[in-house]
Amino acid sequence: MPAPKKRCEYCGSPIETSEWYPVATVRDSNGELQIYSLCSDECRAAWNAERSSEARDKSE
Ligand SMILES: [Zn+2]
Repeated sequence: MPAPKKRCEYCGSPIETSEWYPVATVRDSNGELQIYSLCSDECRAAWNAERSSEARDKSE
């Protein structure tokens, strides 16, 4: 059975899991730790920025 390929949470590009790739860990509203895979530091930064603006919108 082939291993499922990871995809970048931000741009959707396939991630080569045999090489280093950035991840982001986020604690969700239930207190569970979620791990998101990203293809590059640029995507991680962009994803973080997008996510934090969404969190701000929902916070009140
Ligand atoms: Zn990406």
